Order: sequence, then structure tokens, then C-alpha cells
Amino acid sequence: MIPADTVDGAVLRRISMPTRPLALNTYYRLPWNLADNAITWLEPTTKCNIYCDGCYRANDPDGHKPLDQVISDLENIKKFRKTDGISIAGGEPLIYPHLMELVRYVTSQGWKSIIITNGEVLTKELVEELVEAGCRGFTVHVDSHQKRPDWRGASEEDLCELRLKIARVIYEGGRGKVFCAFNATIYRDTLSQVPVLTRWAQDNMDIVNTFVYILYRSEKKTGDFDKYVGGKKVDTSDLVYQLDRMEDHEDVVTQEVVDLIRTVCPSYEPSAYLNGTADPGTSKWLLALRTGNARGSSATRIRNSSRWCRPGTTSGRATISRTRVRPFSAGPSSCFPWPSSTAACDACSASYSPTPCASSVRCTPNPS
Ligand code: SF4
Repeated sequence: MIPADTVDGAVLRRISMPTRPLALNTYYRLPWNLADNAITWLEPTTKCNIYCDGCYRANDPDGHKPLDQVISDLENIKKFRKTDGISIAGGEPLIYPHLMELVRYVTSQGWKSIIITNGEVLTKELVEELVEAGCRGFTVHVDSHQKRPDWRGASEEDLCELRLKIARVIYEGGRGKVFCAFNATIYRDTLSQVPVLTRWAQDNMDIVNTFVYILYRSEKKTGDFDKYVGGKKVDTSDLVYQLDRMEDHEDVVTQEVVDLIRTVCPSYEPSAYLNGTADPGTSKWLLALRTGNARGSSATRIRNSSRWCRPGTTSGRATISRTRVRPFSAGPSSCFPWPSSTAACDACSASYSPTPCASSVRCTPNPS
């Protein structure tokens, strides 16, 4: 058992429930390093259109970088790193004025471009345009510690309505050919919402391919290490990503989140990890792959997805749950992308279409 501590409404200090300890030495350790890294994180801007408590970037209104500079950074990446995808983040990349050129450049270099966004200005038309430029997927950050003007005071559960709306925009604009991921920073006061989010991701696995939990951990003002950048000692007490001033702040740890995921998926077991830097015995990233199909789920009722699997892949679409991770390219064993226009609907035999057919089992996510 995890030691029982205070359970104060929605705030869990320690969870009183059975726990199955993580066994890192039985998971695959991701062999990532600076020169060999599946995902390259690119920040063409530090400007953002909202504010999040957990953001590690200071929001700079003049934060757009010249396109030449960003491309020069990518040329260095090309020289020194093997990478599969470029995650275009920020700041908010959708307000970066040269985004389309950037996506086209990334695509021309043979990399997959992934947009990491808060989704505030995302529209079906913008998705179409980005996909046309070569974008392969979207990771959308939504959580209740963001200051979204239209969602003040919304809980994680309330925000599932926004998540679903964005997922449908991505599905429709991308015509089912791009992946859709969500992430949420989990704070001590939203930890209890992990089962709700896990259930939501599971119910919508037909249009939501990945759900990422980012565990909030603050940069410590105090600690055992002096910190240096470029040979100079730095004071980290001014960092944005800093909650030491909150008297009772206590970082969320991976085991707590995994135990809560298991209240919804008892068999949940990570398959890969990346260990921590300060403490190599901890897991910085955990990856798990969940497969299934959406038939009978509460949010969407669609076809038997097994017919859409490529030969040799796992039946059904996949949801990858990760804790404390950054976005991930589409899982190789998922049924991704969606069927081409020649695929037929299980219910009515009509060719696949983004417009729902009359059948109760639809080609597309049921909008009701
Ligand atoms: S949406 Fe992203 S970039 Fe913008 S404030 Fe939040 S975490 Fe930072």
C-alpha cells in the first residue's frame, strides 16, 4: 500500500490504494541522447496567447525568432543528430508568422513535423493547410491550470468537452490521416482527475491516439547542486517553473499516476522508460501502448477497426499513455493513419467519408 496521508477533497497527498511498484529494470530503456534522438524539440517562438502555471518558458511578446535563424538551427540538427520528427513548439507555434514555411522546410528535409499547441486558434481550415504543408500530427496541451479566457474555473472533467471539440477539428481537417495527441500537466491538486482523463482517452481512442501526463515538478531553489550554464553559475530562483514558494508544494511522482491509471486499466504496465538525470533510479519518461477499438465506447460508436489494420500490425487503434514525457510520433503498431477514401464503412458499405452516414454505426465519430 502507498502510505495513506491526507485526502482533502480533490487534493491527494498520498493515495491510499493498492500499488504495484514500477519495475524499471524490466522495461526497455530508451537509448536517447543528444546525437541520437527520435524527437527534436524546436521553439521558433517564446510568445504565447495564454498563460499556464506549469510553463517553463517566459512568455515574451517579442519572442518570434527570424525564420533564417530557426532554419540555421535545423541545419545544425541535420549535421549532428539522427532524428525522426521535429516537434514544433513554443510558445504557441500557431501564432508564429512563418509556421507554414517552417513546416514545409521540415517536410522537405525528410522529417515528420508535429505541432505542439494549446489549440486556442486551431480551426479545421488551419489543420487542412498545415497537413497540406506536410504536418503529420498535433499534440494539444489542455489542462485546468491554464488561463483560457473561455474556460475559467473549468475542471479537468469540464475540459474534456474542449478536448473532444479539438480532436474532432483535427480529425476532420486532417481527414483522419494525422495523429492527435493530448497532454495535461498533472499538479498535486489535479492528481485525482487522472482516472477521469484516462477513461476519456480510452473512450475516444478512435480519434485520440495519445494521452500524455506531464507530472509537475518544480525547479528547486535549494538543493544539493550548484547550477552552471556555459561555465557560469546561475541562480534558478527566478525561473518561471518554480513553486518552492508554495509552502506545502510536493512534487507528483510517477508511481502515484500509474496507480491511478490502474484504477481504470488494472493491467496497465509501461513498456519503456527514460531514467531521470539527477536520480537515475527514477523514471523521467514512461511509455505504454494500449490497443483496442472504439465500438461501444461512450463517446464514439464507430466501426470494427481491425479491418483497417495494416498487415502485420496490432488489431485496433492505439492509445499510448505516457507520464512525464514529451510528444511521441505515431506508434508503429497502431492502425495509423485512418483508412483511405477507398475503405468502406462497416455498417453501410459506403466509401469512407468525413460526413456521417445515416447508419447508427458511422464512418466518422458520432457527433452527438
Ligand atoms: S500553452 Fe504552452 S507555451 Fe503557452 S503558456 Fe501554456 S505551456 Fe507555455
